[in-house]
Amino acid sequence: MPVIAVAPLVAVSIAGLIGLCIGSFLNVVIHRLPKMLDRGWRAQCAELAGEPAADLPRYNLMVPRSQCPACGHRISALENIPVVSFLFLRGRCSACQAPISARYPLVELLTGAVTAAAVFRFGPTLIAVAACLLLWSLIALTFIDFDTQLLPDNITLPLVWAGLLANLAGLVPGVSLRDAVIGAIAGYLALWSVYWLFKLIRGKEGMGYGDFKLLAALGAWLGWQMLPLIVLLSSVVGALIGIGLVVFKGRDHQIPLAFGPYLAIAGGIALFFGKPLMAIYLPG
Ligand SMILES: [Zn+2]
Repeated sequence: MPVIAVAPLVAVSIAGLIGLCIGSFLNVVIHRLPKMLDRGWRAQCAELAGEPAADLPRYNLMVPRSQCPACGHRISALENIPVVSFLFLRGRCSACQAPISARYPLVELLTGAVTAAAVFRFGPTLIAVAACLLLWSLIALTFIDFDTQLLPDNITLPLVWAGLLANLAGLVPGVSLRDAVIGAIAGYLALWSVYWLFKLIRGKEGMGYGDFKLLAALGAWLGWQMLPLIVLLSSVVGALIGIGLVVFKGRDHQIPLAFGPYLAIAGGIALFFGKPLMAIYLPG
């Protein structure tokens, strides 16, 4: 194999390995951030109600160390290697044999794959680093929203600013700062208008504010031109996943599914394939 072909392969492999480790961290974020927010809200409610604050042990992304939810067994460093430990432990806790969710290695594999794909596509550059920051945030948002129907402001709002900053630094190919600023505003307003229309006509709330902020973030990253494609793709992704859940899991189709995961997945697809997909419906 020629030397020139080997170097990119090494970069993509290293990116994949880094991605696996980031995926391991994303698992912690997905699991703990909603609990941390819930704690904060409870503390604020108690304070407003004039009740004494509950004295709870510290709980954040670093503390306490990861443990088995069934028996409290502390997960050792050896048991915490992305994917490998899961396979080695055959998906069971080493202490109590309780099954470990297959979602942990899946999130790690997914993160590894998109990280490798970003470096494959954009090369070992700052452009790829920026793309990875967007993709990692989208993975965390997808699973948090799927679990809790929440898109935390702690992720969506920094993602809006990060998108504008990335475009200020010229780190998103084919997007100008002007496209990004208009994208952030248009992304928010588009869903905000749908929300109010829905509320005025039906007297019900059809979506959450988190969705507006997520679409604003995607507009800030990918430019306003990509917004119609993202909304279109998210409906396609939503329909496919919805059908899949009903067929394979027998999920009651009356249960409202969060819109955020579909928006996030559509944003990821638009990052990689937006330009060719747009050429299909906007020829020339
Ligand atoms: Zn256990």
